[in-house]
Amino acid sequence: MNQENQKKAQERVQELSTLLRKYEYEYYMLDNPSVDDFTYDTLMHELADLEQQFPELLSPQSPTQRVGGSASNAFQKVSHSVQMQSLQDVFDLEQVSSFVARCQEMFPDAAFSVEPKIDGLSVSLEYHDGRFVLGSTRGDGFTGEDVTANLRTIRTIPLVLENALPLLEVRGEVYMPREQFYALVREQEENGEQVFKNPRNAAAGSLRQKYSNITAKRKLDIFIFNLQRCDGKIFEYHDEVLNFLEKSGFHVIPGRSICHTAEEVITSIRNIGDSRQGLAYDIDGVVVKINDLEQRELMGGTSKTPKWAVAYKFPPEEKETTLRDIEVNVGRTGALTPVAVFDTITLAGTSVSRAVLHNQDFITEKNICIGDQIIVRKAGDIIPEVLKSISHSENAVPYQLPGYCPVCGAKAVRDSDESVLRCPNRACPAQMHRQFVHFASRDAMNIDGMGTAVVAALLDSKLVQSVSDLYKLTKEQLMTLEGFQEKSAENLLQAIEVSKKMPLDKVIFALGFRNIGQKAAKLLCEHFGSLEKIMTAPKEEISAIDGFGEVMAENLYTALHETSTQALLADLKAVGLSMQYEKKQVASGHFFTAKTVVLTGTLSGMKRSEAKQRIEAVGGKVSGSVSKKTDYVVAGEAAGSKLTKAQNLGISVLSESEFLEKLK
Ligand code: NAD
Repeated sequence: MNQENQKKAQERVQELSTLLRKYEYEYYMLDNPSVDDFTYDTLMHELADLEQQFPELLSPQSPTQRVGGSASNAFQKVSHSVQMQSLQDVFDLEQVSSFVARCQEMFPDAAFSVEPKIDGLSVSLEYHDGRFVLGSTRGDGFTGEDVTANLRTIRTIPLVLENALPLLEVRGEVYMPREQFYALVREQEENGEQVFKNPRNAAAGSLRQKYSNITAKRKLDIFIFNLQRCDGKIFEYHDEVLNFLEKSGFHVIPGRSICHTAEEVITSIRNIGDSRQGLAYDIDGVVVKINDLEQRELMGGTSKTPKWAVAYKFPPEEKETTLRDIEVNVGRTGALTPVAVFDTITLAGTSVSRAVLHNQDFITEKNICIGDQIIVRKAGDIIPEVLKSISHSENAVPYQLPGYCPVCGAKAVRDSDESVLRCPNRACPAQMHRQFVHFASRDAMNIDGMGTAVVAALLDSKLVQSVSDLYKLTKEQLMTLEGFQEKSAENLLQAIEVSKKMPLDKVIFALGFRNIGQKAAKLLCEHFGSLEKIMTAPKEEISAIDGFGEVMAENLYTALHETSTQALLADLKAVGLSMQYEKKQVASGHFFTAKTVVLTGTLSGMKRSEAKQRIEAVGGKVSGSVSKKTDYVVAGEAAGSKLTKAQNLGISVLSESEFLEKLK
């Protein structure tokens, strides 16, 4: 029997480890989790319990033993001087009291800092002599990703500090304010792009971008919650550190308090929980940490978490309600999305009466019928979801999405590669309406004054049937529409006229090809440079663009070769759109412009990643190995074989001071 139990446990441990690794990959690397945090945490606890019961099954590689992420190859890697650990999570307040008791057994005078747990992603910021020089993600806790350039776009990260110390490294949480998240989701939906599931994933996805200008637009923010390293000042207490950091110009974790007993800690946790809805950002729990830095040292930790802190996680809120109807929305690219309409409930402080049901597979799998009693869940502040159906009403029939578009009646088609049903009729009024609104939107053609109502009026009156018709409108025609007078008609015409000058990437984005968001449109234009080249490009060349997948390239290629697209583009050109694209200017005229540089040895004044960034900023390239193509080798202290190779090949070698001189 024992052996049988052991065998079962072994199988389950393996199953859980594989599953948790898959979820970690989706969460940390793709910023696109397939399960919610609560499900992940529950499985992690099941694994930890099994490992405790059967210690022989515990391996050092187990997800319970290491931080879940890793550094992607898309960024330069950064070794953390101080490990960036995770936190031990607990789900009930009794466990918090046990933690306090454990600490006070060792240190009867232990006090605790109780802080909101911001739901974002952890970063480390390094300052040399008060200047921000390096910022990195946590990765696996030992090695993270260099995201300095992207972090520089966050306005609340000071680039120069007021109380400059020779060395300062702090840790904080980058997050996306809730309003910003909702705006981004609306925009992604409009653009037919993949939508971020919650503010945490949106923050991670926005920070880990190749182009800093995209990060900048996402308006991320940060709260600092820890000191990692510093030279030039000694601190005794965590709260003393945070006050110092605040005075130095950082946005430090707000809503924190110092508590001396388990009761005080629990009251603070409750207060933070109560304040949750009024915050402009998401918190997913409360962190309780020992305040005395020496006590922290003495308590130490495991390879994954410190022993001097715990994270109390808020449980997700769930409520029962009645499903009254399932509506079908028609998206800009024709996607038919079922939406649950139920009796209003209050969840996590907000009224909720609708939740997206994703697709037919989701509905079938959960056996959802109209009239069911359903459970709706809102974890953190993510978009509400239907968790399950708990009972059917009498005569309930399984729900089937209609086989036709609810707006134009066209027969719906199911993409072979997707679980999505689509209305294939490009002239479908619902699609056209969304398409026009998208065309005119701020990030596309930016036609001021052409919102949803104006688009509806233009389409209803049949003044326009294609976006190119917008450029043929007259003042007299506009004045026939309700609400338009001479001045408003003139203003709209003026805004339409101005939009003719939009660069080609905006036009391509505005036309709303499937999966072609702003970034993809820009990549396309950067690669090809003109509409003609895009139109004549072979499919293989499109899919070879870094950032394009095969399906994306195939869809675009097909759309571009449809006669209707070609006619529309010709029309847009004929009505005067400039369709020009100027490729990004690479820096020129600098000593390192267009030169290949190899960095070797240790530079005393800057990290290698910073040196690389600065060379690239002036149009140079940094390579990892010396060859005949190398123009310069920068040799820091203890340079080894690369220096010898450079000397043998007769390549110019620069000392650190010469390098700095040339960089100026
Ligand atoms: P965590 O997010 O539970 O806690 C640790 C993190 O809290 C730290 O890295 C830190 O950045 C952050 N933090 C925020 N405010 C803080 C404060 N005031 N003080 C200290 N730290 C603060 O742990 P983790 O290891 O980063 O991630 C594990 C969690 O991520 C899981 O518990 C789960 O909720 C989620 N996750 C979900 C999935 C999924 O598929 N849904 C997959 C992997 C991980």
